[in-house]
Amino acid sequence: MASRPGRRDSHSPALTREESPVGSTVALVRCQTYEDDAVYAAVGRGLELLGGASRFVSEGERILLKPNLLVASAPGASVTTHPAVFAAVARHLAGAGAVLSYGDSPAVGRPEGAAKRAGLAEAAARLSIPFADFSSGRDVSAPSGRVVKRWRIAEGVLAADGLVSLPKMKTHALTRMTGAVKNQFGCIPGPLKGEFHARMPDIRTFAQMLVDLCAALAPRLYVMDGIVAMEGNGPRGGEPRHVGVLLLSDDPVALDATASRLMGLDPARVETITLGQESGLGMWEDVTILGDRLEESVAADFVANRRAGSTTGPASGVAAWLARALIVPRPFIVPARCTRCGTCVEVCPVDPKAVQWVESGREGRRAQPPAHDYQRCIRCYCCQEMCPERAIEVSVPLLGRIIHR
Ligand code: SF4
Ligand code: SF4
Repeated sequence: MASRPGRRDSHSPALTREESPVGSTVALVRCQTYEDDAVYAAVGRGLELLGGASRFVSEGERILLKPNLLVASAPGASVTTHPAVFAAVARHLAGAGAVLSYGDSPAVGRPEGAAKRAGLAEAAARLSIPFADFSSGRDVSAPSGRVVKRWRIAEGVLAADGLVSLPKMKTHALTRMTGAVKNQFGCIPGPLKGEFHARMPDIRTFAQMLVDLCAALAPRLYVMDGIVAMEGNGPRGGEPRHVGVLLLSDDPVALDATASRLMGLDPARVETITLGQESGLGMWEDVTILGDRLEESVAADFVANRRAGSTTGPASGVAAWLARALIVPRPFIVPARCTRCGTCVEVCPVDPKAVQWVESGREGRRAQPPAHDYQRCIRCYCCQEMCPERAIEVSVPLLGRIIHR
């Protein structure tokens, strides 16, 4: 069997970056609806523009589909990859002979429960696609990584011959946008993901970690669901925004740069994109768009963080203290929306927690929402990302607004 970009030996846990696909072509296909036949046709057109499904999978290969399953959330909220996109990609790859499984590891809750709520379990059941093991993991080496050379990866990923990534087009408080490069973060099982935030509190190191992981896992193909994206307070608490596109590529950097341009966001301000190119993961400055014209789908007023400057500031020292006090965006709780569920306290990765209950005991917790300690807070925005009530927003201090205007 001919070797393919991103193909690896499933029997070997050692992953190398030499196997990662690098290219600069993105198929942009307009698709206005999640109606099954329309999405199936649009995905088929995108695959044909890239050379056909058989360019990415071969008869009998075990391919894992990796949607964005951030949390248990219904499809209409635009938090997760829509089941119609998942099903369309699955049908095309199965038609090319792939033996499919699927999975992701949400930040909180059971993976299977999140898949059910997102409508993916039902779509997968219709196509007889099993949920892979995302509860347990195994250590693998990735010697070419710039900041991480060893990973704990979900067993379901390691059991596959190849990965096809299905990101959702969304804003993100920390990385500005979340897409193809970041989608592999869910291949790390469960709460281990939070440790990376605590270990890598500055955005450049965190983004490089995401680039390293993407290079190590080397998905063969990325299909981004941008039919209804998320703008504003993403990746969970934002608003659905109709963009009407599907993006397909074997280059995650080129794909994310295209998504960023569609969001009216300069790709040069997205660290996963710039570091992705610097690291050889892909290219963003010279992208060939196949299919429909990008200009016709740009949502120039898309609500996203376009300010210059870092979203987290320096990691330590006096400069970090000043930056956090005066410049760097901070999460804050809108008390009227807070149901006192405690998720923000649970997911905060720093020790001691930077968001805490003000009063102890059940009655005390009911009386007041948790409160942030901004000197401890590393601005990872995990609390904002995971709040189920969209009660945590991010604001920029006055000096930060003036400097980065
Ligand atoms: S996660 Fe949100 S709703 Fe739950 S306690 Fe924190 S702020 Fe309140
Ligand atoms: S309070 Fe929120 S933003 Fe700050 S460190 Fe904790 S989870 Fe991250």
